[in-house]
Amino acid sequence: MSERTIHVFRKGLRLHDNPTLLGALASSSALFPVYVLDREFMQRVMRVGALRWRFILQSLEDLDGHLRALGSRLYVLRGSMLVVLRELVTRWGVTQISYDTEVEPHYTCMDCEIQTLAQEHGLKTYTCVSHTLYDAKRVIKANGGSPPLTYKKFLHVLSVLGEPEKPAREITTEDFLRCVTPPDPNHEQEFGIPSLSDLDVPDEFEVLWPGGETHALKRLEKHFQSQGWVANFSKPRTVLNSLLPSTTGLSPYLSLGCLSVRTFYHKLNSIYAQSKNHSLPPVSLQGQLLWREFFYTVASATPNFTQMQGNPICLQISWSQNPEALEKWKTGQTGFPWIDAIMTQIQQEGWIHHLARHAVACFLTRGDLWISWEEGMKVFQEYLLDADYSVNAGNWMWLSASAFFHKYTRIFCPVRFGRRTDPEGQYLRKYLPVLKNFPSQYIYEPWKAPEDVQLSAGCIIGKDYPRPMVCHIEASQRNLALMRQVRSEQENTAQLTRDVSDDPMEVGLKRELQEEEGLLEGAEPHSVSKHFSASADHQSRHWTPETPHRY
Ligand code: FAD
Ligand code: MG
Repeated sequence: MSERTIHVFRKGLRLHDNPTLLGALASSSALFPVYVLDREFMQRVMRVGALRWRFILQSLEDLDGHLRALGSRLYVLRGSMLVVLRELVTRWGVTQISYDTEVEPHYTCMDCEIQTLAQEHGLKTYTCVSHTLYDAKRVIKANGGSPPLTYKKFLHVLSVLGEPEKPAREITTEDFLRCVTPPDPNHEQEFGIPSLSDLDVPDEFEVLWPGGETHALKRLEKHFQSQGWVANFSKPRTVLNSLLPSTTGLSPYLSLGCLSVRTFYHKLNSIYAQSKNHSLPPVSLQGQLLWREFFYTVASATPNFTQMQGNPICLQISWSQNPEALEKWKTGQTGFPWIDAIMTQIQQEGWIHHLARHAVACFLTRGDLWISWEEGMKVFQEYLLDADYSVNAGNWMWLSASAFFHKYTRIFCPVRFGRRTDPEGQYLRKYLPVLKNFPSQYIYEPWKAPEDVQLSAGCIIGKDYPRPMVCHIEASQRNLALMRQVRSEQENTAQLTRDVSDDPMEVGLKRELQEEEGLLEGAEPHSVSKHFSASADHQSRHWTPETPHRY
């Protein structure tokens, strides 16, 4: 009860299930909740874009509100973590620093610096794992010292370890009566939360995902009112282009730690216990949380996880350098409405459905443009509210078939994939208003519309909306051949993360369903003719290449 503690919030912007804060409070007579806003770090390392800035500031406001209700305050400081902490330690007579353990290299590096600072000043440190269900080190130890590289092996290790810890008890006013936050009369001026305009961050788009613990818990509660939906959740059956999220939409809150993954997981357990039947990993809701856990575990022990070079599990591929094509993809100017609508949604809203992520990631990498997954990952980092070091990189390696995913002959069709579940193109009309008057027949392939149709839709392809930047059939065939070559040359690397049952689109689902959902392009080597006939609808004679000399 005698320490004077700085509790550093990094992720974990919440009071529920916060064992680090709880432990720090128990050992202290004074505690300062601190958030260090290091712009350089957030821009250079985290690539925080405008929407995520807003989400973070809202989450800080919410956290401050919760702390106030308990008689405390959040102290927000600007500058680099170490410089700020060094100054505060002296100023506040601090004897202990507490913070959640994180696994990303930029955080473990920061942790080492905090430890060094603590040693220099004779301070204690207090830290717990709170962003994942398990301590990744424990999982790795149980697997013999290396991370399990397939989901199946991972689940096996977890079955040996048993259920994850229960959430920590709630923090109450009594905790802040025993351990106070000394007030500062200058709080607002010196430690207030900056606004977006203070930070020169543009605030262009409507708030669809308000940040903070309050909204996270509300969203969780809302979903848990539909017990049947929660119990029967099956990821591949959720609708990818519905106008409102068809999955929980909890990822932004999980990624910043506004929502505890342990709270989510154990609530699912209680619903499963009350249900006669429930879905199972990998497609169940708990299975989704375990995918997150899987990528965190692998990332924590894989060097250079977010890049190809020096990454032992990642296929080494000569991706093409094409900044112009990358820019078209990023800005939604590919000429494929399905791809462009998704890229518009992500840029304006900061969240897209998992299968929409599949579509644009496959298109950028092994499907059409043959551009490195690292480039796509960086764009996602900037745009996504849920941008996450381990999960983002892991999924990009998956989609580009650089690791984890091995059915690389399956290439998503940028026309048929979206059309299966939204034949009228409502989703396209919402995000690409320039196309909104096209008849449904042409909306996924407006370049095929006769001139009079384009005229009456008020949109001339090639002028008001771009022509397709590639011929999908040609590009995907060429890329498939390249990928086949890479995989035969690097068979050993490919095998490291291979497990047929890892593909959530495979397990528990019959082939009919995959076909029904338009996931199969049928590009297996033995079915080339089928491939061409099945895809004739976007290889039509109306297709006009974008290169000027050809039209
Ligand atoms: P739900 O289906 O409701 O799932 C609940 C939670 O489980 C999610 O919030 C998330 O924490 C976790 N989860 C779900 N799917 C996955 C998955 N495939 N891998 C790991 N965890 C998962 N998710 C991120 O949180 N951050 C990212 O940066 C990110 N980048 C991605 C990049 C690509 C190319 C792809 C294909 C997927 C990426 N995902 C990422 C995974 C997934 O698309 C999102 O987690 C999910 O769509 C978020 O929506 P939800 O919360 O409604 O998910
Ligand atoms: Mg969901």
